[in-house]
Amino acid sequence: MAGEFLKSIYERIPDSTKRLASLVPFSLRAGNTYRSTAAMLAKSQWLPKQALEEYQLIKLKEMLTYAYRKVPFYRARFDSIGFAPSHFSHVDELEKIPLLTKKDVFAHYDLMVSTDYNTINSYIGHTGGTTGQPLKLLFSLKSHFEEWAFMHSQWKRVGFEPNQRRVAFLGVPFKKEKEAKWKFNALHNELQLSPRHLTYADMDQYTEMIKEFRPHHLYGLPSALTVLAGYCIDRGIRITGLKAVLCGSENMSEEQSRLLSDAFQASVYSWYGQTEKVVLAGACEHSREYHLFPEYGYTELIDGSGNVIKEPGIVGEIVGTGFLNQAMPLIRYCTDDFALYSTGPCPCGRAYTRLARVVGRRNNDCMISTENEKILFSSIETQRGAFSNIQQWQFIQTRPGLIRVDIMKGPGISTAHLSAIEQELNSQFAGKLTFMASIVDDLIRTEAGKIRNFIQEPVDK
Ligand SMILES: [Zn+2]
Repeated sequence: MAGEFLKSIYERIPDSTKRLASLVPFSLRAGNTYRSTAAMLAKSQWLPKQALEEYQLIKLKEMLTYAYRKVPFYRARFDSIGFAPSHFSHVDELEKIPLLTKKDVFAHYDLMVSTDYNTINSYIGHTGGTTGQPLKLLFSLKSHFEEWAFMHSQWKRVGFEPNQRRVAFLGVPFKKEKEAKWKFNALHNELQLSPRHLTYADMDQYTEMIKEFRPHHLYGLPSALTVLAGYCIDRGIRITGLKAVLCGSENMSEEQSRLLSDAFQASVYSWYGQTEKVVLAGACEHSREYHLFPEYGYTELIDGSGNVIKEPGIVGEIVGTGFLNQAMPLIRYCTDDFALYSTGPCPCGRAYTRLARVVGRRNNDCMISTENEKILFSSIETQRGAFSNIQQWQFIQTRPGLIRVDIMKGPGISTAHLSAIEQELNSQFAGKLTFMASIVDDLIRTEAGKIRNFIQEPVDK
């Protein structure tokens, strides 16, 4: 989540200074923006629905007006449809503005940057993305510290405190140092372990380091934390004293959540967010449903015809208008992620709108049959049946008609599962595709340590 610009500054600070810095409370190190946002969230999360809606209307109007004044792309877009932000008075009027796609942002980067921002008050970030081309974005420095206040605010629901020790499994910092397996970030009091090195052979070293570090929290990709959990259960290793396992950046299944809570005897917390900073939503003390932060951005769900969904239970694309980042405002930005609303009040008492589930990314990947026919990968049912006890898997196609199904080694996974999976898939695509399942030590990961569910390129492993 940390920006590349800030990271480059951080890496230039001498180690001795970093060690001193870790003794100063995080809120002081992070500055005024962090402190004022954290103080606001401490109160605003308990506001009634009407007050939150009023707040959103004000923030939306502010961002629309700003974008019109300072961002050439929006000035042209709003003028072309006769939309005047100064007259904006109801959230439904937002529907007049066309949706913004990744392609739009890609094609118009220079026109989308606010004229107020330069290299001093902003930094460049990229979406990692498990699919498609990485997207270049500009962020205000302010948005970076505001976002940390939001992250900490939600983690507090499971007992998080900013100065406590945590172990992180996040891929990004290791991008340029493929051989490095770990490093220490004193500003966050964080031991960072590379999720690209997660074979059982590396796990001995990792678990020793974690035990010695005595973290309060484990933080990172659920796919990486699940591997660690499986290893600990298999070998009877106990990592004690954990308050919570904080999981973001990837979808997490019920099975993964159960395994993490069994292995670490701690609360498992998950949230939904994205590099673009338009929508942030997380679990609460009582529910795994994603509570949308109304202070972070305005969220819509959009159906296949481009209409706004208001009812619970209907799946639509998550579209967000972020409130944090003026350097490159994203208005009605299509995230390529899909979700559905929940209904009724939550026992936590917050009046936040909730997503019952995030159902994953749009996936247009196709498998190729023996006769070179295209079959949508998303047509495979992996939520139930033979897959219901499998925590992590990956499909790999290296030639037409043949698909390898790699199942990640884990507690309770045996060869009996393999034949059940093969049987189920082979009967589903009889004559077109043949599936061969096997248990593996680790799955193939992206640069950032994430796991793609389907890989098509010829690969050596
Ligand atoms: Zn709740």
